[in-house]
Amino acid sequence: MHHLTVSLAQRSYPILIERGLLHRPELLRAQIKGRHVLIVSDQHVAPLYLDAVRAGLADLVVECCVIPAGEREKNLDRFGQLMHMLAAMKASRDVTLIALGGGVIGDLTGFAAACWMRGVRFIQIPTTLLAMVDSSVGGKTAVDLPQGKNLVGAFHQPATVLIDTDTLATLPAREVRAGLAEVVKYGAIFDAEFFAWLEQHAESLLALDPGVIAEAIARSCQHKAEVVARDETEQGDRALLNFGHTFGHAIETADGYGGLLHGEAVAVGMLLAADLSAHLGLATQAEFERLGQLLQCLQLPTRVPDGLQASELLRHMRLDKKNVSGQIRLILWRALGQAFVAPGVEETEILRCLERGG
Ligand code: NAD
Ligand code: ZN
Repeated sequence: MHHLTVSLAQRSYPILIERGLLHRPELLRAQIKGRHVLIVSDQHVAPLYLDAVRAGLADLVVECCVIPAGEREKNLDRFGQLMHMLAAMKASRDVTLIALGGGVIGDLTGFAAACWMRGVRFIQIPTTLLAMVDSSVGGKTAVDLPQGKNLVGAFHQPATVLIDTDTLATLPAREVRAGLAEVVKYGAIFDAEFFAWLEQHAESLLALDPGVIAEAIARSCQHKAEVVARDETEQGDRALLNFGHTFGHAIETADGYGGLLHGEAVAVGMLLAADLSAHLGLATQAEFERLGQLLQCLQLPTRVPDGLQASELLRHMRLDKKNVSGQIRLILWRALGQAFVAPGVEETEILRCLERGG
C-alpha cells in the first residue's frame, strides 16, 4: 500500500492507495466518527461500487444519494438536494459525507460537507484517474453556475482519501488517457525524473499495469500534497498546477465543452505552453518535442482541434479568472520539470503560438 500524508498548517490527512481497498471495509470504517453517513455517487459508479462501500458500514445510519453522471449535475440544485437530505436525516455535526465517484461527485460532496453546519467531515473515494491524482486531494470544492464553472465553492479538506486502483478497470479508456494528461503535468511542472519514468512506462500506464499505475498515482499525489502544503489557498506556488490550463480552458470553452475532455484539452494546452516557452528562449525545442512524444505515446491529442480560430482562443484566454490587471498570466517552462508563473507575455507571442497550434 502507498500511504501518503497531506500536511497542512491546521491538520494533516492520509491518502491510501491500494488495489482492492474497497474490499477492506475496516479502513473506511476507521475514518468515521459519528453514527450518520451520507454517501454521494453517480449512476455510473453506484451500481459498480456502492455495495462494497456500504458493506463496511452496517452498524451506522447510512443514506445514499445517487445522481445522474456528468458535469451538468455539479450545480446548486444538487447541492440543495444534499442539504435537504442531511436535514431529513437529522444529521448533526458528527455526520460524515462520502464522495464515491469522479471529480464531479468529489467537488459537489466536498462543497456540501463544507457548508452543512459550517463544515463536517468528508471522505474522498475517487474512481476516475483525474480524481485520484488531482481533484480528491487539496480541498478545493465547488459547484458550477450557468455563468461559469466552479463559481460557488469553498476550501474544505477531506478527512482522508481512499484510492482503490482496481476501480480504474471499469473507467472508459478515454477517461483513463485524459487522467494521464494530469499525471504528465506533474512531471512537466516539478519533476524531470518522474517525466522520464513516465516515458519509460507509457505502455504499462495505458494498459493499467497495477504496480505502474499505483506508482504513478502515488507520485502524482505526492506532488499535489506538497504543493498544497506549501500553498493551501493558491496565493503562490499552487498556481503552477495550472500549467496547460489557461490554453486548455480556452480550447474547452471555444469547443463548447462537447469536444475534448478536460484532460485532452490540457494535453494540447501543455504542449502550447511548452512551444511558447521554447519560442521565448526559456526552454528548448527538444524539451517541447519530448512532451509531444510522450503525449502521443499516451494517445492524447497534441494539436488544437480543426476549426478553432487562434484569435477566438486568445479572446477566451483574456477572460481567464487568473489574469491580473488585464494581463494574461501563463505558466511556462524554464526547463522540463521547472515551471514558473510568467506574467505579461506579449499577446502577439501568444497569438503566434496559437496559430502554430501545438
Ligand atoms: P466525472 O466525475 O464526470 O467522471 C467522468 C465519467 O466517468 C462520469 O461519467 C462518471 O460517471 C464515470 N466514472 C467515474 N468513475 C468510474 C469508474 N470507476 N468506472 C466507470 N465509470 C466511472 O469527471 P472527472 O474527470 O473525474 O472530474 C471532472 C470534475 O473535476 C470537473 O467538475 C472539474 O471541475 C473537477 N476538478 C476539480 C479539481 C479540484 O481541485 N477540486 C481539480 C480538477 C478537476
Ligand atoms: Zn486539470
